[in-house]
Amino acid sequence: MTQPCDSPVDLFIIGGGINGCGIARDAAGRGLSVRLAEMGDLAQATSSASTKLFHGGLRYLEYFEFRLVHEALTERETLLVAMPHISWPMRFVLPYHRDMRFEGDTPTSKLLRLFMPWLRGQRPAWLIRLGLFLYDNMGGRKILPGTRTLDLTQDAAGKPLNPKFTHAYEYSDCWVEDSRLVVLNARDAEAHGAEILVRTKVVSAHRDGALWHITTESPAGTRQHLARTLVNAAGPWAEEVIRNRIHIKSTEGVRLVRGSHIVTRRLFDHDRCYFFQGHDGRICFAIPYEQDFTLIGTTDQDHHGPPGDARCTEAEQDYLCAFVSEYLTRPVTRDDIVWTYSGVRPLYNDGATSATAATRDYVLSLDSDGAPLLNVFGGKITTYRRLAEAALVKLAPTFPALGNKWTARVPLPGGDFPYDGVAALTAALKADYPFLTDYWAGRLIRAYGTEAREVLGEARTAADLGRNFGATLTQAELRWLMTREYACTAEDVVWRRSKLGLRLSEDQISALAAFMAEEASRGK
Ligand SMILES: Cc1cc2nc3c(=O)[nH]c(=O)nc-3n(C[C@H](O)[C@H](O)[C@H](O)COP(=O)(O)OP(=O)(O)OC[C@H]3O[C@@H](n4cnc5c(N)ncnc54)[C@H](O)[C@@H]3O)c2cc1C
Repeated sequence: MTQPCDSPVDLFIIGGGINGCGIARDAAGRGLSVRLAEMGDLAQATSSASTKLFHGGLRYLEYFEFRLVHEALTERETLLVAMPHISWPMRFVLPYHRDMRFEGDTPTSKLLRLFMPWLRGQRPAWLIRLGLFLYDNMGGRKILPGTRTLDLTQDAAGKPLNPKFTHAYEYSDCWVEDSRLVVLNARDAEAHGAEILVRTKVVSAHRDGALWHITTESPAGTRQHLARTLVNAAGPWAEEVIRNRIHIKSTEGVRLVRGSHIVTRRLFDHDRCYFFQGHDGRICFAIPYEQDFTLIGTTDQDHHGPPGDARCTEAEQDYLCAFVSEYLTRPVTRDDIVWTYSGVRPLYNDGATSATAATRDYVLSLDSDGAPLLNVFGGKITTYRRLAEAALVKLAPTFPALGNKWTARVPLPGGDFPYDGVAALTAALKADYPFLTDYWAGRLIRAYGTEAREVLGEARTAADLGRNFGATLTQAELRWLMTREYACTAEDVVWRRSKLGLRLSEDQISALAAFMAEEASRGK
């Protein structure tokens, strides 16, 4: 069934990743009428497959990406304050050893080869210290503590490490629940009047005078839309959208670089992360994850084939195991892996020579040959809000009445409490809902912040929350996810709205899927 066109919207956005949802929120809050179409679930692609750091990108300093690093560093604390439930500060321990080597083709390594050939590719300690000095001071840090030096023979961070590592540097960055960040942006966009369409694929779009004519397909059928501007925020599909949906000739495109992660049972007992450097010049993080696990990544490989096919290959798993085993006293093997995930970086195709060297900065390209088209290439989770602001600067000439920028430090849903207030909020929730365990209360606050109370409602006992699907996931929470957070399938719930997939058995996930299917058919 084809639904007829309704009146034109100001902005039609293709893609419900962090960039599409960030632009939707910002634009809707400035008074534009916005519609966003995501072909699957929100954050189903790159935006749920990141390392989940709000970071400046220490290693991008070696590529002289100063603009990106400065913007991202400055942004860390702005974001932390706006979403203290889903993001928090983290300390990173960077063990130092003389064997560490540079990647050969960074501008820094080329300079050192020229002026200090005797280093023979080594990454000297003074250079790391210099990088960390810049990192501490480029971003107007107020909340996050600065770098310190660690004696690994004394510090708890040295305990799980090979004794050859005797000292380290410890610096700050932040964690973020990437897929929840996307959903909260979509919800806030909707609260400002945007229409968010999930499971809705843009199959074609063409210009006719001052308007875009867009066709989408969803389980509800085919629908025609009219829009004054079109934003292509399709991430790894940005080039596919330009070529096959909009049919525009363009030299611009995306370079697809796959990054995979492995998750193991918890490998060490403290709450700090490791930043490991390899002999090949690459780096790898080992991060405490979901309380009982360790997240390790990432790889960096050119990806050929559809973006949706990205998987962590056995070779990548072996590479990551070998990488961290260089550092840890107990080697990590494939048997330790409990989960893997893989995503594709949609880097702007700038003709860089290696996957690791392609720019991580974003590029916004405006095509005003008729109704405007804004293509979004690249970007980081960390800079999504700034990218959205920059996108609206590009679109401002089309919308003279556009409001001012507004999103800095404005809380996302559930984030209206102090950045260091999680413990107090958790204790208060436990006091009011005494049946919650520490883990359960902590999980709810980390997911929903001040809205955890709305999820729990009037419940006085655990039984009041309805069916328990396992690992503290109840029917009340599921109802919230299905009615307020666009969740349609068990996968949306256990791998994106939460990471309960790590704790639920296959049978429990199947039971959840069956329940959700039944609920959905009842809602029809
Ligand atoms: C391994 C890895 C680690 C990373 N780590 C970090 C990190 O720690 N910190 C950080 O700041 N950044 C990190 N990044 C970068 C960050 O994840 C990405 O830059 C960001 O998620 C890109 O978001 P996006 O919205 O552009 O793309 P996506 O999240 O991929 O969203 C694009 C969406 O468009 C949809 N779509 C495509 N075609 C259509 C169509 N025709 N109709 C409707 N919808 C469509 C897709 O389904 C998809 O959901 C990492 C990236 C990778 C791969």
